[in-house]
Amino acid sequence: MTESIDLPLTGSDACPDCGSGSTVQVVYGLTDDVLDEAIADGAVVHGGWFPTDFAPTRHCKSCHAQWVDTDEYLGALAD
Ligand SMILES: [Zn+2]
Repeated sequence: MTESIDLPLTGSDACPDCGSGSTVQVVYGLTDDVLDEAIADGAVVHGGWFPTDFAPTRHCKSCHAQWVDTDEYLGALAD
């Protein structure tokens, strides 16, 4: 019954705190020119050179919440 899965259109990209779909990926480690430009544009957020134990993978541009994307949305689609 994969057709019956009820998920928001933004899937796991939606902010769990405020529900905003305006979220971006958090990246770690070395950046190159392309990534630097994406960070400057706000397309992604740089989380630091090394991920911490709690290393969020998504950042909400509306409320600045950060969380780990568990990929449940993609897993649901694969079933
Ligand atoms: Zn939010």
